[in-house]
Amino acid sequence: MEIKNVKGTKDLFGNEIANFQYLNSIMSQICELFSYKEMRPPVLEHTETFVRSVGEGSDVVRKEMYTFLDKGNRSLTMRPEFTAGIVRMIVQNKLYATEVLPIKAYYCGPVFRYERPQLGRYRQFNQFGIECIGGNSLYYDAEVILLGYCILSSIGLDNVTIKINTLGDDESRENYKSALKDYFKDKIDLMCDDCKNRYEINPLRILDCKVNEDQKVVKDAPKMRDYLSQASKNRFEQVLKVLDGLQIKYEIDDNLVRGLDYYSETVFEFHLTSKAGNDYGAIGAGGHYDKLISQFGGPNLSGVGFSFGLERLVSILFDNNEEVRENDAEIFVLPMEEKYNSNAIQLSLSLRINGYSTNVNYENGKLSSSIKKAVRANAKLALIIGENEIESNTIIVKNLVDEKQEEVKLDDLSSYLHSLLRHHHHDSDKCECCYGDDDCENHHDERD
Ligand code: AMP
Repeated sequence: MEIKNVKGTKDLFGNEIANFQYLNSIMSQICELFSYKEMRPPVLEHTETFVRSVGEGSDVVRKEMYTFLDKGNRSLTMRPEFTAGIVRMIVQNKLYATEVLPIKAYYCGPVFRYERPQLGRYRQFNQFGIECIGGNSLYYDAEVILLGYCILSSIGLDNVTIKINTLGDDESRENYKSALKDYFKDKIDLMCDDCKNRYEINPLRILDCKVNEDQKVVKDAPKMRDYLSQASKNRFEQVLKVLDGLQIKYEIDDNLVRGLDYYSETVFEFHLTSKAGNDYGAIGAGGHYDKLISQFGGPNLSGVGFSFGLERLVSILFDNNEEVRENDAEIFVLPMEEKYNSNAIQLSLSLRINGYSTNVNYENGKLSSSIKKAVRANAKLALIIGENEIESNTIIVKNLVDEKQEEVKLDDLSSYLHSLLRHHHHDSDKCECCYGDDDCENHHDERD
């Protein structure tokens, strides 16, 4: 029987990998500009790490975690999100005592949730996110949203909608929860089983319900903004003011409560519909938290962060025709007989050392089929090694784009390849060989 991948997981290869790498590299660069450093918590954590932070009332902990007993009878969980692991790591290593606060961390990697797979929803997916921990200013909330916004616009996604809300402080939330309990008391029997559960454990979660019938009931529920303490109200208004000053547009969404229990005060989501009209749900989400660090035994510090779902971003780039292409080897070395394979392996090594991505056809075979192979692999040049070339210390360089070929002395190969593959003509910078001389005879690449 054929063995298939596990339901809800995704095989990544080809262009999709190129896009993941592209996203990871742009996002990391922007994070570094904002003075964030990478952190890598393990995939496996003690189950308690997530139960304590994400919360027993959350869907993630109640039914979505990949939890198992290891051979030593420990309950372990494959991370369903990063924040808990990052905070555990900062507390355990006492980084709050040795690092300048706030600690600014970015991360990237797979997370695991046992959810019902559908468009943009997997059981193993990749998140890229940040945490800013130990800062004591509401400007960090705004700066984190700004960072998310900068990341999205730098990959060409600037028509993003930022939904924002506040969950207030403890006092605001307790007042609001009891108002919700009063409101749903005589309605909950007609709502879905999940909502019945949420009513008992955390009525805020009901606002997040996706069942159509339930949403009608949720529409008229009391609003958080009417239960905010004065301090939380002021704080939220100030965060919005900073965003206004940065000309970042947002929509206040009263029903935005987020699925993880640790949030307080500012919460937000990034939404975007692809040009093909696909709505992948939130492409990123996050918020502020006050208790998480102390829950792990650390000092009383607050934090703010977000994470993006990379699969959803890659799908949007694909739909919008903005995906990047895989980088194929530029050069294919074609030894015509097996006895020239040792020359080929030497030559390809020196090409690679000089920065040319290079492939070799060690299977030899007929010239025409070797060339076809190189063309199929998208190489720009084929370097052909045959008996004549070995005898005369030359090599045939065949341009696979315009099909011209030339015999080149091995001693001249390096400068020949440079002029063919690396010599670009810049409008602003004078090119290095001719300094803008129109009569320059070197090949000038049109790309620049
Ligand atoms: P969360 O940790 O739930 O706040 O999710 C953060 C981001 O991860 C979301 O905005 C999505 O982009 C992405 N995400 C969450 N769950 C999934 C999933 N099951 N499959 C793919 N992406 C997801």
